[in-house]
Amino acid sequence: MSEESKKLQTVRGMRDILPEEHEYFTLVKKAVRHRCRQAGFKRITTPTLEYADVFERGVGDATDIVEKEMYTFESRSAKRMSMKPEGTAGIVRAYIEHGMSSWSQPVQFYYIEPHFRYDRPQKGRYRQFHQFGFEVIGARDFSIDAQIINLSYKILKDLGIVDRFELQVNTIGTPECRKSYEDALQNYFFGKERSLCEDCQRRAEKNPLRILDCKQEDCQILASMAPKFDDYLDDESREYYQNVLAFLTELGVPYVENKKLVRGLDYYSDTVFEFWDKTQGAQNAIGGGGRYDGLCELLGGQATPAVGVAFGVERVIAHMQEVNVEPPKKDKVHVYVACLGDFAKKKAVKILSDLHDAGIHALGAMGKASMRSQLKNADKFDVDWTIILGEIEVKENIAIIRNMERGAQETISLDDVVENIISKIDKKEIDRYEVGE
Ligand code: AMP
Repeated sequence: MSEESKKLQTVRGMRDILPEEHEYFTLVKKAVRHRCRQAGFKRITTPTLEYADVFERGVGDATDIVEKEMYTFESRSAKRMSMKPEGTAGIVRAYIEHGMSSWSQPVQFYYIEPHFRYDRPQKGRYRQFHQFGFEVIGARDFSIDAQIINLSYKILKDLGIVDRFELQVNTIGTPECRKSYEDALQNYFFGKERSLCEDCQRRAEKNPLRILDCKQEDCQILASMAPKFDDYLDDESREYYQNVLAFLTELGVPYVENKKLVRGLDYYSDTVFEFWDKTQGAQNAIGGGGRYDGLCELLGGQATPAVGVAFGVERVIAHMQEVNVEPPKKDKVHVYVACLGDFAKKKAVKILSDLHDAGIHALGAMGKASMRSQLKNADKFDVDWTIILGEIEVKENIAIIRNMERGAQETISLDDVVENIISKIDKKEIDRYEVGE
């Protein structure tokens, strides 16, 4: 087969989102927007492309994301660019770039954006996927950690899937005590590298915490005998963590403590958490986050405490579908306008435009097909009503309105068509759009 005649298709691991799935996307977006607004969050969008540095420094160059999964390339001007693999680093870059430390603190953002990771594609794991998430930058308080976990919990509840998840919580302490723990881990793994998987051999030196949540059996066995973080936690970290837990209890958010949870990214400190699928565990976490007090400084700003969380929209939607959450069918078309001849078509187009203004979903007035095949087409669009404008009707200034379910027809004056249809459509279905509403 020649190159030209090869069928074009999506890139491996990237998917089209077709209208039916978009109904779910819309529902997720609405739930996120609604809950975030209630809590004073504002929306932010950072570019898809950033200088690779933003993520290499921000996410950490010893993480899977940066080591293996980033789409990084050289631009025409020989700058190294990456497509964003996650939301936080870019948002903190924006915080610094726009001098947001002079805004009232904390700054609270939410986002719903596509992200890109060169991961091995499989169910629930794509190379382009969407995340919604929120960040609170400019304050360090255990109440905020508990509040954003609560916000996440409420969104999962609104979407009808909260019961499918178990909230796992842990602390990885302040950067200082984490550092002494990491040193202890490095010492422990020193000389044992050959028993670790290839990834963990690298991690042993650069990011030993990650070995603790490696899924390989040999690594797990070694990790289970490694020094325990509990022995390295300083009093401040311990107290902070206990407060997060107490506040979660106060808010009625159930959780499970998981001492092994460390999260994949370098920039976390103190609170870390993930929502795990109760039936599948860590493999299919739906979302997670944590505190990242050191990130802003890493990216060249002043030391600024922050906390955030991100969820995978595709995974959220897959869970909604499994429990049969039905999104509202907002895309339903109510009316089809069929017409014969150019003169009738002109009238039909005007009627369509007036129907749209009245908040009625309508289409038609196209092609030169026979009336029979236009009616068939109307059936395929599953409309409730068809307006029929033949040449004779237009000449007599009338139109036929056909009830598609019953097949009954009535004839009315062309001047009354729009009003007549409005009176037939359920008020709940009327879709009026006001700019600024
Ligand atoms: P992370 O920042 O890696 O913890 O990702 C947060 C959430 O994004 C995960 O819990 C998943 O729900 C989702 N996610 C991460 N990577 C992918 C991917 N490759 N495909 C689909 N969803 C993903």
